[in-house]
Amino acid sequence: MTSNSKTQLILARILCVPSVVTRYIKAQRNKFLFQANPLTPAQRNVMSAFFSRDLLDLARLVVLDGIRLKNPPFHGILKTLGFSNLRDLSQVSAITFDYVIVSHINFTNDLLFHELVHVEQYRQLGIRRFSELYVRGFLAGGGYDGIPLESNAFELGCRFEANHQDHFSVAEVVAQWIQQGKY
Ligand SMILES: [Zn+2]
Repeated sequence: MTSNSKTQLILARILCVPSVVTRYIKAQRNKFLFQANPLTPAQRNVMSAFFSRDLLDLARLVVLDGIRLKNPPFHGILKTLGFSNLRDLSQVSAITFDYVIVSHINFTNDLLFHELVHVEQYRQLGIRRFSELYVRGFLAGGGYDGIPLESNAFELGCRFEANHQDHFSVAEVVAQWIQQGKY
């Protein structure tokens, strides 16, 4: 971690960024929940070899039609404080708010898998801890790609994409990562 990112981390703590992020995630989840749908039987069929039934029952999906997500209000404040490389939410394929996955594009199995890993992370960590680790990972890793919650989802996604028949339990891997303090 550079001294600059250390200063940013201290600033983030003073400004209670994880609490702000937690509130934002809950508000977005509640906002999109009413228009969200459960997984289709075909999606469940593919994902059931990797995710628990509880998780597949819980997850909700939204495909936005003609509108783009707006950046959260705290982005502007963070930018003035020197936080760069913030994700422009209008440009991402999809984003997961707790158990509600909001997408700008139709779900492929690969996209759905990645976002369901985040749902499992939220489920095991809770929204508050997920937010803390996401912010910490962002600052320590110098950007989005350095966030362990993301690298974990990318790693498992690659394994899934390489072979849909190579069945494994995402919940077990996430539990291991938590136990080993890898997030
Ligand atoms: Zn992700």
